[in-house]
Amino acid sequence: MVQRPCGKGALTLSNNGSLSCLFTGVGSAFSKRHYQTNLLIIKGDDHLMVDCGTRAPQALHELGVSIMDIKTFFITHSHADHIGGLEEAMLMDRYVMKKRPDIIIPQEYQNLLWDMSLKGGAAFNERHQGKYLSFEDLWQPLRPKRVKKNRRETWQYALGNLDLKMFRTMHIPDSAQGWEDSFWSFGILTDERFLFTGDTRFDPVLLDEFTAAYDPEIIFHDCQFFTGGVHSGLDELATLPAALKKNMLLVHYGDNWESMKKPVKDRGFKGLAKQWVYYDF
Ligand SMILES: [Zn+2]
Ligand SMILES: [Zn+2]
Repeated sequence: MVQRPCGKGALTLSNNGSLSCLFTGVGSAFSKRHYQTNLLIIKGDDHLMVDCGTRAPQALHELGVSIMDIKTFFITHSHADHIGGLEEAMLMDRYVMKKRPDIIIPQEYQNLLWDMSLKGGAAFNERHQGKYLSFEDLWQPLRPKRVKKNRRETWQYALGNLDLKMFRTMHIPDSAQGWEDSFWSFGILTDERFLFTGDTRFDPVLLDEFTAAYDPEIIFHDCQFFTGGVHSGLDELATLPAALKKNMLLVHYGDNWESMKKPVKDRGFKGLAKQWVYYDF
């Protein structure tokens, strides 16, 4: 994996066919110095936006791309740093582009995302024969299939030449014992080459399962610089095997990151993930 900085206004959503990804932001939910942790995956003519937080349309704009240029979305979970930009995406696409963006989403999460989050800002803009808008008036859902062999709930979708495996994580509530009793949240494995945990508490079982089954080259892992709450603490992650940590880039981190660069290196991690950098595989 090699890094290639992407300048302001210079983002392209296609490439020569190699696998690449770029974080439009690497910050925590309420970061003021970075955008929110949202990930673009690009391969040939295919691209996927993993999450679209409140600040994602602005981050894309500064990178030179409109939210309306994004063809396909995948959403890991319903916190606003991951879904807050979806209203702009769906309304701009409907009223400016006259199209529905694609979204890879199981029916179960579609119902949650619409009923508990998106419906309020979108459904009541139009009424036709007494009916308000539905999720599928605004989005073109692409249905992933369950991967039966994994013990952890995992879904798979082939987006052009991209192989995507989406797996349940242990994010919220803070008292959950595992992914099974956690609310809907996902991470994603791309082409079996890099894994992005999405938001998760410290869950070494996930890393055991997915390194044994797929051995990804790089893991982009949720990280906060303190322990407790609903994210993975740096000191918890530090207890992982050295062989795992050296391929791990930490993301979703707080605004005091400069003072944490050395502690991150000292604990054996590859480093902090950077926003606006292509990671080429
Ligand atoms: Zn988050
Ligand atoms: Zn979250």
